[in-house]
Amino acid sequence: MKQNAVVLGGSVAGLLAAAALSPRYRMIEIVERDVLPSGPRPRRGAPQGQHVHALLPRGVQAIESLLPGFTARLTAAGALTGDVLGNARWYLNGLPLRRSSIGLDAVTASRPLIEHTIRALVRALPNVRITDGHDIVDLTADRTVRITSRNGGGSRVIPADLVVDATGRASRMPQWLADLGYAPPPEDVVPIDVRYASRVFAGDLLGDDRVVITARYPGQRRSSVMQRLEGGRVLVTLAGVHGERPPIDLEGFTGYAESLTVPDTATVVRSGTPLGDAVPFHFPAYVRRRYERTELPSGIIVIGDAACAFNPVYGQGMSTAAMSAVTLREDDDPVRFHARQAELHEAPWTLAVGADTALDAGPAAAGGPQPAAAPGPGEMIRRLQLAAVEDGELAAAFIRVTSLVDPPQALGAPWIAERLAARAAASVAS
Ligand SMILES: Cc1cc2nc3c(=O)[nH]c(=O)nc-3n(C[C@H](O)[C@H](O)[C@H](O)COP(=O)(O)OP(=O)(O)OC[C@H]3O[C@@H](n4cnc5c(N)ncnc54)[C@H](O)[C@@H]3O)c2cc1C
Repeated sequence: MKQNAVVLGGSVAGLLAAAALSPRYRMIEIVERDVLPSGPRPRRGAPQGQHVHALLPRGVQAIESLLPGFTARLTAAGALTGDVLGNARWYLNGLPLRRSSIGLDAVTASRPLIEHTIRALVRALPNVRITDGHDIVDLTADRTVRITSRNGGGSRVIPADLVVDATGRASRMPQWLADLGYAPPPEDVVPIDVRYASRVFAGDLLGDDRVVITARYPGQRRSSVMQRLEGGRVLVTLAGVHGERPPIDLEGFTGYAESLTVPDTATVVRSGTPLGDAVPFHFPAYVRRRYERTELPSGIIVIGDAACAFNPVYGQGMSTAAMSAVTLREDDDPVRFHARQAELHEAPWTLAVGADTALDAGPAAAGGPQPAAAPGPGEMIRRLQLAAVEDGELAAAFIRVTSLVDPPQALGAPWIAERLAARAAASVAS
């Protein structure tokens, strides 16, 4: 057994990394800046926690494998499970996907409850210690971490055999590397300018459905997601990209909901009782740091949003962090880990970038004609989504990919191409 590991950041990725390392290391210390709440409450270091957080079926499976009993504990605290297609209303291109149960369960709960449940299970691991209320201020090439108490308790250094950076999007690892004379990692950056406004409403306003997704599409930069939360509440997140700015005052919030193509969000906002104020969030760009392509001091691993922060509208961050943690449990050699993590990031990154690129450049953006031949991947996906309004098997194939259960290549299967071709031929003939 190895001696000690230090995990920088005690949010979802850091907690799951600690769980993954627990069988291999004698002691794991998680260092977190926030004084962590004792219950499922929002906190300053995870401001995204007040916005819709989807936990994809693949993410649930990964967390469950790291922390057995997670789903049962979450549902006992009020989370709801449901089929990712059968219990969800998916509006894509302004039209509802054909619904059926496809045997893939998702869990819906507030992000603070998800994190709180993970934290409780990690706290119960005998060799994991959480040091909260401390800033990580420095890292040396021999893996010594310097931390400072935020309430005047002084500084301390922690020598470690392994350092895992899980400090999120604002990770200082690129700067620390530069300070140590290493090249920072190459970055892939996709500007998206996503803005959210989220508000909680009282009541079971979604019927039997767990979530309602009203996605943007070419020509429509506004979208929304409504999610049932524990405690009989519904969280409504309004979103916009490239200059759209959902308002946080109730009148403006309602007006924005009314401007969406389908009426479901506006109906909930008008009929629900707001609990507290709406909160905004701005996410300028998504970033993938290619640690597999740069030399690092030995014994350093970067995981979670610190390595790859996805466009949040696709709900991939926690699930991908969990999948990375499963990889870390299998192999904690940094070079091999970063190579495997890069492979693992490929599917969600390609899905998100592919979808955003197609949405921003789609032919229907100006109501223009369909391209005659050789449509690109984005256009193929749009045709598939349109066909999936009537064809439940196509809807299931699409949702299995967005749930990260099947790879994006699954959408290139011959049966799908044949169905789309038959549909196109039928529409030409009619
Ligand atoms: C608006 C928004 C909506 C999102 N929606 C979804 C969704 O629907 N589904 C989904 O799966 N994911 C979603 N995500 C992403 C998800 O929140 C993250 O992927 C997930 O929290 C894992 O992130 P992380 O643990 O790597 O980093 P973070 O959650 O950002 O946590 C980093 C932690 O490090 C701590 N920290 C940072 N610097 C220091 C320091 N110097 N010293 C000590 N501590 C430090 C912070 O306090 C924080 O606790 C969303 C993100 C945003 C921004």
